[in-house]
Amino acid sequence: MTTRFENGIVITLGEKNRVLYNATVVTDSEWITAVGAAGEMKRRFPQAESVDCSGKVVLPGFICTHHHFYSTMARGMSIPGEPAANFVQILERLWWKVDRALDEQDILLSAQLPLLDCIRNGTTTVIDHHASPSFRDGSLDLIENAVRQAGIRASLCYEVSDRNIPAGGVAENERFIKKVGKGDGQIAAMLGLHASFTLSDATLEQCVGIARQAGVGCHIHVAEDLADRQDSLSRYKLPVVNRLDRLGLTGEKSIFVHCVHIDESEMDILAATNTAVVHNPESNMNNAVGVTPLLKLLKKGVLVGLGTDGMGSDMLVQMRCAYLLHRLANHDPRVAFLEAPQLLLQNNALIAQRQFGLPLGEIAEGRPADLAILDYQPPTPLSEANFLGHLIFGLVDATVDTTVCRGKILMQGKKILSMDEERLAARSRELAPQMWKRLQEL
Ligand SMILES: [Zn+2]
Repeated sequence: MTTRFENGIVITLGEKNRVLYNATVVTDSEWITAVGAAGEMKRRFPQAESVDCSGKVVLPGFICTHHHFYSTMARGMSIPGEPAANFVQILERLWWKVDRALDEQDILLSAQLPLLDCIRNGTTTVIDHHASPSFRDGSLDLIENAVRQAGIRASLCYEVSDRNIPAGGVAENERFIKKVGKGDGQIAAMLGLHASFTLSDATLEQCVGIARQAGVGCHIHVAEDLADRQDSLSRYKLPVVNRLDRLGLTGEKSIFVHCVHIDESEMDILAATNTAVVHNPESNMNNAVGVTPLLKLLKKGVLVGLGTDGMGSDMLVQMRCAYLLHRLANHDPRVAFLEAPQLLLQNNALIAQRQFGLPLGEIAEGRPADLAILDYQPPTPLSEANFLGHLIFGLVDATVDTTVCRGKILMQGKKILSMDEERLAARSRELAPQMWKRLQEL
């Protein structure tokens, strides 16, 4: 089916970003087939369905390169005992209980709810990291089904860790990676791992063997807290990145999440091996773990993307958080204006391309038909030259009206079409207290 998304302000992004007024994006099936002046597109594609985008800005769909769908049901839950005083306690008292308390129904719903959020926020591609030790085998299939129903793209993996049983989750990754194979552009697979401090050399070697044979990357949390670095230094006499590099986890398909507590030599390894890093500023601030040396990483040529780490699915908010955090952390109001948007708009597209093999992140002929269409009437002139100012101070607060992924309209007029939001939220409100109760007994 051919569709004209017409009369909007189209911001193409890509190497030569263009801002086109009264413009139209034409999609055919899963691809963008033309971009140009509204009148001309109407003449060239008179039979196409039309979606009016006047008063709106059309951008490529947003990409989140690190998410945890499974964290959904923890929202509003009370945690017994004293508040966690550090990162390891946060894991032990909260997240390592949440994942164990999830049953089959919870896994499905706790994927569906953030998928709704993704659509609501124009996020059309997600790289997720899943854990549910009490219902592990087959859990990625449940999430895959939810993603397919929602209509966005997702790369999925299961979090391998030795913390419950040795090498827990290896088989689920291996099975799912084989099933997905080269992927169909909508679902991709990675090999998921928790973090250095919960993984033995033997488990890491086993995982690297599977990942290499299948040609997929490793998706692992790296030096999120100082505790991870200290553990690696004391047990292996190596910083975390060195340890993981020695065991073969680095590489251009791999994603090292966080990298808060790394030194210069570790940054050099990341750059030399072309390993992607994903920065999650809101999560780092929430867990009070420290500040990723973002500007240094970028200066060394490391590809750094932007994720939410399960904090939400709104990537513009995450971008602005990165912008504010690095200005404050560097005590320098000259920085992060270019870098924070770069993580979201360019680097996330490059990281997603490595996973999906698709040229995401640009509105141009032949590119995937993934669009985020936002209500935004610029109060000052908007052009290529000042787009970032509008992005950071205006679009960040604009509401997404229409979300398109793989050429399908998933939300229009702020109504989600691919899923029943009301029913799913009601069901989740029913199941969450049961999950909380099971969690208290762990
Ligand atoms: Zn994470």
